[in-house]
Amino acid sequence: MEHIENDDQFGGLTVNKGVSQPPVVNPYLKRRKRKALPSAGELVEGILKGDITTLARAVTLVESLSPDHQAIAQEVIEKCLPHSGKSRRIGITGVPGAGKSTSIDVFGLHVLKGGGKLAVLAIDPSSERTKGSILGDKTRMEKLSVHPDAFIRPSPSAGSLGGVARKTRETIVLCEAAGFNNIFVETVGVGQSETAVHSMVDFFLLIQLAGTGDELQGIKRGIMEMADGIVINKADGDNIQRAQLAQAQFRSALHLFPPTESGWSPEVLTYSGYFELGIPEVWDMIDRYFAFVDANGYFERKRSQQARYWMYETIDEQLRAHFYNNPEIEQMLAAKEIRVLNNQQSSFTAARDILDRYFNRSL
Ligand code: GDP
Repeated sequence: MEHIENDDQFGGLTVNKGVSQPPVVNPYLKRRKRKALPSAGELVEGILKGDITTLARAVTLVESLSPDHQAIAQEVIEKCLPHSGKSRRIGITGVPGAGKSTSIDVFGLHVLKGGGKLAVLAIDPSSERTKGSILGDKTRMEKLSVHPDAFIRPSPSAGSLGGVARKTRETIVLCEAAGFNNIFVETVGVGQSETAVHSMVDFFLLIQLAGTGDELQGIKRGIMEMADGIVINKADGDNIQRAQLAQAQFRSALHLFPPTESGWSPEVLTYSGYFELGIPEVWDMIDRYFAFVDANGYFERKRSQQARYWMYETIDEQLRAHFYNNPEIEQMLAAKEIRVLNNQQSSFTAARDILDRYFNRSL
């Protein structure tokens, strides 16, 4: 095309003829083929053989938001369910710095000395640390991460707590089907994720620190009530006496709590993850707990209660997602929110309008 700038009236200015644009993508580069998705059957077969690579692939599909991936994942979970359930699920919580990683590393090695396999999963919807950082978690647990019988998986990243927790629970099923007979689920003891973890484990271990003498003040009563065992870490060097003092304080505090549903009296122990002191004792306590709840039937009862809980949780979560992810509802919510904020409409009528729209037109 001639450029009008080349007209005489624009003296002194010439614009060269252009060349047609080359395609942005070099046609000589072959399109990279996307890896074909494995079938549910292939995945299940690999998982049941205990193949860790297949297990990891299946867990990735469980964590994925894509509907295609979810469809396969759900089929895999369904097929793995009959092979699951035969493990000890142990929740481990403690504030950042309490020594969870150090302790999981040594507890894990201790457990593996007795044979079997160990999966370490995490629930941490808020954390920066775990944002898809497998490497991060692997370096946190140095010895376990190179152990052939350990499978370490960081928290599924992003999403609501309910969603993240459900994925972890589904991952437990897959790990158990792959022959992992010990499952640790780690969480940071600062938020609400403890409740989610508590609802998927058999034993809940709370890692505490001795320190300032006012240990009990900072601890949320709710978390202590959930604990089947409280362990005070870093009982080494100068800290031994303080740890013992904290132990005595926790013990007397626990007396004030109502009896547990299991009938088990939570124990308080001291140990040192770093110097590997008192580790077998912590594990003996956990063994005693399992023997106790096996004998009184609580183990089975709790597992069925948990299964029911997760049915309702999954319904709740999927209903919410179906509602909030609907594009029309999203738009309507944004518009109504402005009206409510500007006092042009009451919250109740705004909510009713949106729900009417949702229920009356199956969106
Ligand atoms: P997390 O944030 O709960 O996972 O805690 P870490 O395992 O990363 O530990 C936090 C810090 O405490 C690290 O610097 C550890 O070396 C240290 N630590 C962990 N366990 C012990 C212990 O038993 N004794 C001592 N003295 N330090 C410990």
